[in-house]
Amino acid sequence: MFAEIVLAKASRGIDKLYHYSITEELRPKLKIGHQVRVPFGKRTDIGYVVGFVETAEVIKVKDILEITGGTPLFTEHSVELAKWLADYYSSFFITALRLVMPPGTRSKEKRKKVRVTRPVTSDVTDTGIVAVTNSGLNLTPAQQSALESILRAIKNGQPEKFLLYGVTGSGKTEVYLQAIADVLRRGKSAIVMVPEISLTPQLIQRFRDRFQDHTAVLHSELTVKNRNEEWQKAVSGEAVIVLGTRSAVFAPVKNLGLIVMDEEYETTYKNEKSPRYHAREVALKLAEMNRAVVIMGSATPSVETFYHSYESRVASHESELYIRLVLPKRIDNRPLPPVEVVDMREELKAKNFGVLSSRLKDELEQTLSNGEQAILFINRLGFYTYIMCRSCGYVVECPRCAIALVYSSHDRKIRCNRCGYSAETPKSCSRCNSVSIKYFGTGTQRIEEEAAKTFPAARLLRYDRDTTGKRGSHEVFFSTFAEGKADVLIGTQMVTKGLDVANVTLVGVISADIGLHLPDFRSAEHTFQLLTQVAGRAGRHHLPGKVIIQTYSPEHPVIKTAVNHDYESFYRQEIEQRKELDYPPFTKLISMLVSGADQIRTEKTAADLGDFLNRRLANGVLGPVAAVIPRLRGEWRYRILLKGKELNVMRNAIRETLSKVVVPGGIKVTVDVEPMSLL
Ligand code: ADP
Ligand code: ZN
Ligand code: ZN
Repeated sequence: MFAEIVLAKASRGIDKLYHYSITEELRPKLKIGHQVRVPFGKRTDIGYVVGFVETAEVIKVKDILEITGGTPLFTEHSVELAKWLADYYSSFFITALRLVMPPGTRSKEKRKKVRVTRPVTSDVTDTGIVAVTNSGLNLTPAQQSALESILRAIKNGQPEKFLLYGVTGSGKTEVYLQAIADVLRRGKSAIVMVPEISLTPQLIQRFRDRFQDHTAVLHSELTVKNRNEEWQKAVSGEAVIVLGTRSAVFAPVKNLGLIVMDEEYETTYKNEKSPRYHAREVALKLAEMNRAVVIMGSATPSVETFYHSYESRVASHESELYIRLVLPKRIDNRPLPPVEVVDMREELKAKNFGVLSSRLKDELEQTLSNGEQAILFINRLGFYTYIMCRSCGYVVECPRCAIALVYSSHDRKIRCNRCGYSAETPKSCSRCNSVSIKYFGTGTQRIEEEAAKTFPAARLLRYDRDTTGKRGSHEVFFSTFAEGKADVLIGTQMVTKGLDVANVTLVGVISADIGLHLPDFRSAEHTFQLLTQVAGRAGRHHLPGKVIIQTYSPEHPVIKTAVNHDYESFYRQEIEQRKELDYPPFTKLISMLVSGADQIRTEKTAADLGDFLNRRLANGVLGPVAAVIPRLRGEWRYRILLKGKELNVMRNAIRETLSKVVVPGGIKVTVDVEPMSLL
């Protein structure tokens, strides 16, 4: 018997499995998941046991020297998931394996001391049955019928996938809670994922009220120590529910019965470093491995997921498909807030040059004098800037590709990220000749200044990346606002989710347009989702709410459908576009980003890689072109996009390309399978 070992260091040359022999002394103790010290070359190295084999690949097999950690760090089951991850996302195996190890394993091993308090036992140990004392609310007929479908699948052990499609406030969370209660009664456990920004104290409390101490919470704002403690609760079986952000999908729960994923379209579910996994794909794989049920819940599902969902059960045996369960109305028939559109071009004509329209100012004044609260939201996705005419709303586009040209501050030019076309920044509008043509990208600070000038007595709270850098400050912001210690919350997309404050009656969207013109095929979808979500923050309880959307393009289909909270009309238009332009769900994408400090060498490398890929794949190789953000932190960026039906064919082509084409030192190639952002 030999042990299969993966080394702790990640690098291309050594990312494989090595075989080592096991001494008599170690034989009874050594298990999958153990951290060990092994001889490697002239030195010794740290590695992990990921399996056992009968025959070794090399003739001179060396002994494992010692077990360096007390107890195994992961199970055979986790090894299988890590192998899938590394293969699917083309990452190193060890990097994928890190995701299924207890948080902080790496930093401890530097000090050559690994202390893990509780052993990992088998995956299938019974967790014991958890008594659920609080049985939950009486469900509405729609909730009841959705829950019944879910319970049927759980009872029959069918690894079914559900899309719970319902507007905010329609009672989705209540359905999750009751489905979880059922799973726990059967002695199984559940993983619940929410986007980074929805994991509010309010939500955690709701789980604690229902399930007492059986919930562990995992997210990136916790210290490593706290994360490790929560992780161990799942290992020991003390927690049978893990509630958290994307990394919660790797929680070592026993006997997994249900995975819930709220707002599955959110970009925070994508890991933006290697392995660049999407928690949705991992959840689906994990559910398949455990024969667990999956629930995706949203009012605005991703276009891909909605496309793959069917209302009839008949189709559900196709493994890619979701059964769609619909919650058509808010609880108590509370109305969705009315949405009013303000045409900002008219403001300019009326000589209002500020960022707040007179309509929004009137409403703000009313809200403040009623002692109610407001949210001002600015849609700012990424770092790009484009050029727009404030008189007519015209956006300067590429004459060849009809997508917005992006302004780069380093040479003050505008350029197309698809074909590379570039031009001087225009001095006047080519459609109406106005000289009010300028870069667009209003910040939260500008809004705060203007609001402070107009309403000197109002208590303003600005919330964005600059002001929420510190750990925990996120929660402080939310509770300050929720407790009524501020009147107006000003923020970027972070304010769109999770916040459930009874006293919020007004939501103002300062500029709905910015996301619409992004040269990314998902920009319309993201904008629609953002606008719908932010509109859902107003009037959630007994006070009626109102939403004002300021825009330079009131006729844009995304704005029009968002105003009516009409996801399905939006979806029908969008799916046509995707089909026409051959984007997901009709095709699969892999992005290859080539970056480096030396522009000429980076561009040359990108061209070489592109040439090789082009010879290898008959079609579906786009680029290289300068990335939407052509220069970031001193590095030039070029992107190649692969489009195709089979991810495997594309992955293999990339693997071969990277083994044949020489990538000079100082140049980085980042492969992103199913990228979320193409900026
Ligand atoms: P969603 O997750 O779709 O936004 P929630 O489950 O949070 O909806 O429900 C919205 C509000 O309605 C919450 O305050 C919740 O407690 C309440 N609620 C949910 N279901 C019911 C029900 N069946 N009866 C009464 N109130 C309910
Ligand atoms: Zn172009
Ligand atoms: Zn114009």
